[in-house]
Amino acid sequence: MRNTPAGVALEVQGTVPALDTFGQRLIAELPPLAVVSQCEHCDLPEVSAESGFVILPSSDGRREAQIAPDTALCADCRRELFDPADRRYRHPFITCTNCGPRFTIVTGIPYDRPLTTMAGFPLCPACEAEYQNPLNRRFHAQPIACPDCGPHLALLPADPQPLVRAAALLQQGRIVAVKGLGGFHLAVDAASDEAVARLRQRKQRDEKPFAVMVRDLNQARELALLSEMEERLLSGPEAPIVILRRRPEAAVSELIAPGSLWIGLMLPYTPLHQVLFAESGLHAVVMTSANAADEPMVIDEADAHAKLASVADAILTHNRPIAVRTDDSVQRVFQGQPLFYRRSRGYVPRPVMLPFDAGQILAVGAELKNTICQTRGSQAFASQHIGDLKNEATLETFQQTIAHLSTMLEIRPALVACDRHPDYLSTRYAEGLGLPLVRVQHHHAHLTACMAENGLDGELIGVIFDGTGLGDDGTIWGGEFLVGGYAGVERVGHLKKVRLPGGDAAAREPWRMAVSWLYETCGDEVWRSRGMPALTAAEQQTVVTMLQRGLNAPFTSSMGRLFDAAAFLAGAARCNSFDGQAGMALEAAAETAVAPVRLPPLLLQEGGALPFQLDAVPLLTGLVDGRCSGASTAGLALGFHTALAEAVLAACDKIRHDFGPGRVVLSGGVFQNRLLTELVYTRLSTAGFSVFSHRLVPPNDGGIALGQAAVAACRRSL
Ligand code: ZN
Ligand code: ZN
Ligand code: FE
Repeated sequence: MRNTPAGVALEVQGTVPALDTFGQRLIAELPPLAVVSQCEHCDLPEVSAESGFVILPSSDGRREAQIAPDTALCADCRRELFDPADRRYRHPFITCTNCGPRFTIVTGIPYDRPLTTMAGFPLCPACEAEYQNPLNRRFHAQPIACPDCGPHLALLPADPQPLVRAAALLQQGRIVAVKGLGGFHLAVDAASDEAVARLRQRKQRDEKPFAVMVRDLNQARELALLSEMEERLLSGPEAPIVILRRRPEAAVSELIAPGSLWIGLMLPYTPLHQVLFAESGLHAVVMTSANAADEPMVIDEADAHAKLASVADAILTHNRPIAVRTDDSVQRVFQGQPLFYRRSRGYVPRPVMLPFDAGQILAVGAELKNTICQTRGSQAFASQHIGDLKNEATLETFQQTIAHLSTMLEIRPALVACDRHPDYLSTRYAEGLGLPLVRVQHHHAHLTACMAENGLDGELIGVIFDGTGLGDDGTIWGGEFLVGGYAGVERVGHLKKVRLPGGDAAAREPWRMAVSWLYETCGDEVWRSRGMPALTAAEQQTVVTMLQRGLNAPFTSSMGRLFDAAAFLAGAARCNSFDGQAGMALEAAAETAVAPVRLPPLLLQEGGALPFQLDAVPLLTGLVDGRCSGASTAGLALGFHTALAEAVLAACDKIRHDFGPGRVVLSGGVFQNRLLTELVYTRLSTAGFSVFSHRLVPPNDGGIALGQAAVAACRRSL
């Protein structure tokens, strides 16, 4: 056995049945944290003189840099944590080889204690003995510690019993900032309306759902309806936030996710979280990232002091530094598989295996939900969630993330990939590196991200439904039908382009898109007479003027914005106070429908010339008429989803007829919509298409960097 740059190479010899058994048991009996991302085998000539087991030095003479993701507290450590006889009883930093911090404490390679943020905590004799003993569960576990030699808790304002005091404050409905693995959270009793309302008011966050940490799996079952897969995901070593169907009678504040049928839950993944639950006796605690508006999560004490003092009543912190900011991962289960909304803690830096050798490439992603990706051979390392790259603080995190990942993986990129949008901070950064640069169209990157993670090659159809992205013609794209692969794509169809009145304001106020879509057909006066929900005369006039003059109203084919218009017209949402709110409200409404209201199809405008267009005017007019005749919002919402899925099928049928490919990838932020994805998936597979969606990276812009890297790798090899 030896480590090679491509992975572990094993040479085994024996009878065929024995080798088969070995292969099966190798996978079945892996240690808890081992992952096999790919397994290949070939036949070798028999060597009669060889027997026994040897580990050979790494093929390049160095230790392979493989840093593990952070992992939730294991069952053994949990047992010790609550065993009064154990020397680590209630020690909030208990860990072993099978659990604990990894990625978030690493400052360099090789992965050894001096190159982690545990460097300042020399092992005591008892811990040292465990560390040196090959038979101990803590053999060579770098972050181990105990009450004698490990980090300790502190409370601000100071208190001799930080944990007891923090727990008491939580019981009283106070807001406590808690230092976690990858950053600070704001914690508050999830059962108390008053407490959650105070958090919303102080955080100035009106409606965006908060994640909730529950004391154990039983408590999760009390709050949400769980499938087997969802239970496994919640209690797995990655411990992500899982978006679940909330029980109507769930004993948590309505203010956690106003108007939503869903709730994001996670389990206590650090020993500190565990002891906080034990001490406070609470069942469910809001745990939302602690940050200043639109800035990355706070990770150090100085920042916590400066930025959280006005929000939190107390700060529960400790002296083990966080090397790199890492948010919680967010997932939902779709067709028995996890679907990422955000891929971060617990998964990073696990690589995605590419179906080709990409060499060393840095891809810098887009703007919203930014992540970066670095490749090393056939491994693509997608970074943790960085955030919306729109301010200095996030740009700084972006640069730190690139530096940290390239140090850990020893990657010196020879090629850089970025979005084609010239004004994204990521694009400007890429331009400044002085390396060969590949600019990748946004929706091409969505398509290739989905191809790469599914190991696909060749040409296929991409249905890319997205909020925003600069198109080749200078307009904003987002409802795209593409044909092609890594080398390039052709835009064969798209949603009809309409004006985006007020630019960014249109994304915040869905009614603007409703007026924009219907203005042309219905005219200034007419659409009002058709019973549009009440808008003030001033609101209408502003938008109508923009549409007439074309001022501050760029053209867009965005599917995200069509969802906004539909959500408004169906009566499901009036505002978009956070990205995707109106679309989520429309999906939630549709989930409650008994049956869809039959709506006009999205007209497939043919006329021979490509690209074809989907015209949503008849569909949107149908929503207005439906509301006038008293149809329910739920029925209209489901009708809209159904009509859109039918349109995707009609479009893909047309593309297959004209071009040939029968494989379809679904990508773009709109495919976070589980209902739409399912309706599209079912229709396309029934019609004989092979359909691929995202499982390893998010369908939203968090997956873009992977796609950019894949395109750059292909361009270079051409
Ligand atoms: Zn453990
Ligand atoms: Zn110790
Ligand atoms: Fe996008």
